[in-house]
Amino acid sequence: MKDTLYIPGKETPNMPDYDSLCDKFKWENEFKNLERLPGGGLNIAHEAVDRHANSHLANTVALRWIRKDRSLIDFTYSDLKIQTSQFANVLEKLAIKKNDSVFSLVGRIPYLYVAALGTLKTGAVFCPMFSVFGPEPAFQRLSKGKAKVLITTTKLYQKKIKQLMPRLPLLRHILLTDAKQHIDEKVLSLSMLMDEAPDEYLISNTQPEDPALLHFTSGTTGMPKGALHVHQAVLTHYVTGKYVLDLQPGDIFWCTADPGWVTGTSYGIIAPLVNGVTNIVDEEEFDAERWYSILEEHRVNVWYTAPTAIRRLMRLDFKPLEKYDLSNLRLIHSVGEPLHAEEVIWGKKTFGMPICDNWWQTETGGIMISNYSSMEVRPGSMGKPLPGIEAAIGNIVEDKVQLLTKPMEQGHLLLKKGWPSMFRAYLDEEERYKKCFKGEWYVTGDLAKKDEDGYFWFVGRADDIIKTSGHMVGPFEVESTLMEHPAVSEAAIIGKPDPLIGELVKAFVVLKPGHERSEKTKLDIKGFSRKKLGPAVAPKEITFTDSLPKTKSGKILRRLLKARELGLPEGDKSTLE
Ligand code: ATP
Ligand code: MG
Repeated sequence: MKDTLYIPGKETPNMPDYDSLCDKFKWENEFKNLERLPGGGLNIAHEAVDRHANSHLANTVALRWIRKDRSLIDFTYSDLKIQTSQFANVLEKLAIKKNDSVFSLVGRIPYLYVAALGTLKTGAVFCPMFSVFGPEPAFQRLSKGKAKVLITTTKLYQKKIKQLMPRLPLLRHILLTDAKQHIDEKVLSLSMLMDEAPDEYLISNTQPEDPALLHFTSGTTGMPKGALHVHQAVLTHYVTGKYVLDLQPGDIFWCTADPGWVTGTSYGIIAPLVNGVTNIVDEEEFDAERWYSILEEHRVNVWYTAPTAIRRLMRLDFKPLEKYDLSNLRLIHSVGEPLHAEEVIWGKKTFGMPICDNWWQTETGGIMISNYSSMEVRPGSMGKPLPGIEAAIGNIVEDKVQLLTKPMEQGHLLLKKGWPSMFRAYLDEEERYKKCFKGEWYVTGDLAKKDEDGYFWFVGRADDIIKTSGHMVGPFEVESTLMEHPAVSEAAIIGKPDPLIGELVKAFVVLKPGHERSEKTKLDIKGFSRKKLGPAVAPKEITFTDSLPKTKSGKILRRLLKARELGLPEGDKSTLE
C-alpha cells in the first residue's frame, strides 16, 4: 500500500524524504540547532523553556492545561520560564544540590510540569511517578532513587506517603501542591514557597553527560528497573519531535501519556517544548467522547497515543468524523505495544490517515524506529530507524552478536550504542546494565525481523517467546491473527508447559460486545487461526476473559496471565493497572 500521509495545511513535512535525510543526517549538525547555556553547558529546561521565553515565542502558549471540568489554563513560554525558575529557587532554598533526586507523585496538574522542568534547571534529577501508585510501589522507587524531595497532594500524602516516612530517612521534604500552609518543618506548602521565591534563576551549568531524569520501566517482564538519562537526551527529543512527530511552528500537539511513563515525559513534556509548539495536557483519564472533542476543540495537529487507547476507540461502533471536525489533525502516532495492521487500517478508515506505529523503550529515552509522514506505511510494521540510529537483527552466540542479514530472519533487535538519549545506568544494577551491551550493540530484549526494504517487524519480547513443537512462536503474530477474527476484541497468548510439545500456545481472549462465550465461538476462533497460522502455531487452548491484565502504561502483562494459569507467585504487581 503506497501511502504518503501528508495532509495539506503545512507546506512540507520536516522530513520530506527518509532516504535523503538518512544520507546527510549528523547528530552534530542537529546539535547546532540547540542553543546551549551561556556557560557552554547543556540543560534540558533551557532548551525546552528559557530559550523560547527569550525569543519571539515568549507569548506562545507552551502548555495548555485542560482541567477535569474542561476549564483551561494556558501557560506561555514566558509564564513557564518564571514558574520553573521559582521552583528551581524553592529547591535551592531547600538546599537541593546537583544530582540529588526530586520525585513527584501527582496527577497531570501544572505543578508536575513546573516541577519537572524546574528541577532540571538546578541540575537535580527528576523522577515522575504515576499518582495511582500505592504506598509500596512508591516506597520502592523513592528509596531506590534516594529521593530528597517529593511533590504530591495532601490527599496522596495522607493516604500513601505519611506511613512510609520512618522508612525513608533520606526524604527531607514533601511539597504539597494544594496546602495553603506549611504543615511542619518537613511537609511544606508548595504554593507558599513559590510565592516567596524569586522568579529569576541562573540555570545550573549542566554538561551533556550530567544526569537529568530517572524513569522506571513498565515492569512488564519483571521488577521495574530504574533507567538513568542525561541532559544530552534532549537532542533525541528535539530530533524525534521534528522528524517523527513533524512538529512545526504553530502546531498544537497532544501526547496522551502520563509523565509517570517515559512517553509522558519525553513526549508529554520535553519534545514539544523543545520544538516550540503548544503542548496539550489533559488532567482526565481516557474517555472516547472527551478525547475526540479535545482533538476538535483545541485543533490538535499531531496526536501521540497508545495501542490500548486505539483499541478502546475501535471497540466503540462510532465514526468520529460524523460528529467531530478533526480537519486540523494531520498525523497520528502510537507507541508502547505492537500496533496491529488492523489498527493502522482502522485509522485510515476512521481519520483518513493510517496510525503511525513507532518503537522505543524506557532505556532508549526516545523514539528509535518509526513510520514517518512522508514514507510508505506498511501496516503491522514498526517502520524504519530514526535517521542517525543504526538498528539491526542478530543472534547472540557465546556472548557475541552475530548479525542476521537475510530479509525476515528473526533475531534480537539491536541498536548501535551511543545515541544521545541512551540510558547511562540501571540504578544499583551495574552488572545488569553491562549485560545489555554486546560489543558495539545494545541488546533491546525484543525480537524482530527486517524486510528486504529495511522495515522492521516486531515479533515479541525475548521473554515471551513460546517454544512449541520445535517452533519459536512470537506472541505478536498470533495475537494479530486472533484479532482479525470478527468476534475478538483483544487477545494475549502465553506458553503453557506441556510434556509432549514443550509449550502449548494458550490464548486469553476478550470478545467484542454481542459475541457469546460459547464452545462454538472457541472452535470458530481456533479453526480461523489454524487456517491462517497452521496447526503448530495456532492456539490449542482458549480462555475467554473480561479484560487482560495490563500495566499502567497499557502493556499486556503476559507473565501475570502465565503465573495465574500455572498457580505460581504473581511477582511484582506495582505497575498493574
Ligand atoms: P520492563 O522492561 O520492566 O519489563 P517494559 O519493557 O514494558 O517493562 P517500557 O520501557 O515502557 O517497559 O516498554 C518498552 C517495551 O514496550 C519495548 O521493549 C517493547 O517490548 C514494547 N513496545 C514499545 N513500543 C512498541 C511497538 N511499537 N511495537 C511493539 N512493541 C513495543
Ligand atoms: Mg523493557
